[in-house]
Amino acid sequence: MNLDTITLQTPYLSLDEEFYNLVQPQGIDEPYLISFSQSAAKLIDLDLNTKDDPLFIDLLNGSFSLKGSRPFAMCYAGHQFGHYNPWLGDGRAMNLGVTQGWNLQLKGSGDSLYSRGADGRAAVRSSIREYLMSEAMHHLGIPTTRALGIIGSKTKLIRKNMEKAAVVLRLSTSWVRFGSFEYFYYRKQHTKLEALAEYVIKESFPHLEKDEDRFFKMFCEVLERTANLIAKWQGIGFNHGVMNTDNMSIEGLTIDYGPFAMLDDFNYNFVCNNGDRVGRYSYGQQPNISYWNLTKLSEALSPIISKDRMQKKLDDYGEFICPNAYIKEIRRKIGLIEELDTDAQLTEELISNLHESYVDHTLFFRTLSHYNGDRSPLYDIAMNPVAIDKWLILYDERLKKETRSQEERKKAMLQINPKYVLKNHMLQEAIEFAEKGDFSRVENLLYIAEHPYDELPEFEHYASDTPEEHKNTGLSCSS
Ligand code: AMP
Ligand code: MG
Repeated sequence: MNLDTITLQTPYLSLDEEFYNLVQPQGIDEPYLISFSQSAAKLIDLDLNTKDDPLFIDLLNGSFSLKGSRPFAMCYAGHQFGHYNPWLGDGRAMNLGVTQGWNLQLKGSGDSLYSRGADGRAAVRSSIREYLMSEAMHHLGIPTTRALGIIGSKTKLIRKNMEKAAVVLRLSTSWVRFGSFEYFYYRKQHTKLEALAEYVIKESFPHLEKDEDRFFKMFCEVLERTANLIAKWQGIGFNHGVMNTDNMSIEGLTIDYGPFAMLDDFNYNFVCNNGDRVGRYSYGQQPNISYWNLTKLSEALSPIISKDRMQKKLDDYGEFICPNAYIKEIRRKIGLIEELDTDAQLTEELISNLHESYVDHTLFFRTLSHYNGDRSPLYDIAMNPVAIDKWLILYDERLKKETRSQEERKKAMLQINPKYVLKNHMLQEAIEFAEKGDFSRVENLLYIAEHPYDELPEFEHYASDTPEEHKNTGLSCSS
């Protein structure tokens, strides 16, 4: 398929007009291609030569429309840092339509009814971060939205510093958020709430379409998917930074990449968002916050689903579903295939000892993948090896109960624990080069993002411990 043959559908527009605002993408000055993701292009069967087609830049810049495209911004509300905001919505994102189950969306292409006076634009810095990180997360096996391409421009934006505008073409199987339901709940528009639930079932949970109990089952699936997402975030060491309910996907995807960070030295209390003074969205709080956010979703759904049934499910989430998903993920990461009751304790000990050992999260699990009883490689990477040692005593005991050989375990662990993740200082370096017109570092990081488990000798330096001056630094929300 090429850009002339793709035809989009816009099922969302069959909903009532209150659900969206029809918009027109507004171009940026002298646009140029920064990067194109071949891996994302394959999702929609897009010809890989499209990278060199000038129409691709025109598409991102709003001067070329795909067949069937009818751009719209979606309305939603949400709890931001614990406080309800009734009026959010796509303030700078424009949906073009769906092809092959993927909703195409431009981010940074101008304002909408939901922009609240802001410019509708996205800075090149945050756009490169979202573009690269969403691709990286996918290749790490973490549910996420995707990104097909990114353009830069000469258009200047007023942020903390002057920045240049960019546009990312994002793809998602759903753009519906917890906050999409909250919007109608707080306005007491229960018929619209129900219409949204039917839409979500059709788009995201089609196997439930004919089920009489479909709303409740949808809620249960959202819980399961959210637990899986959070377990994956915790396992890989990802701190989202802005877990507001408007940034929570109904499909349990990672969406809206802002001041996120991968952990450097394992720090349970790490807060990547400089604006988050109390650490509401710290790395360690993410499971608790997911529960809080699901509670808000259950409130929003209460006119169409029994509160008691949802509360029971939420109790299960807090007590079993969420912690068990995490234990399962840790079991995978530390190479265990037998499931023992004592694994909960082993996981807890791992977290507290990692926290005390000042060891790089990614490097720890990668090094552990090679573990054959010789502890010195693990001691070498930790500032406080005593804590590592404490946990390895438990791990050695636990390994005795495994049926898999050390070689088999190592092979599996090397496919689960990445050698490469995109840390903020790496992204920042690529951004600084891109700002000077050199996109080679963006391409390098895209390549690394696509091969996180491989040994890549030419990129070995990206696999080492984070340089001291870049460790555990936060970012602002400004984007
Ligand atoms: P975010 O933190 O990017 O997920 O955005 C939170 C809300 O603010 C969403 O409703 C965004 O669409 C909106 N927003 C953020 N930045 C801008 C901008 N530059 N112009 C218009 N709306 C924005
Ligand atoms: Mg958002």
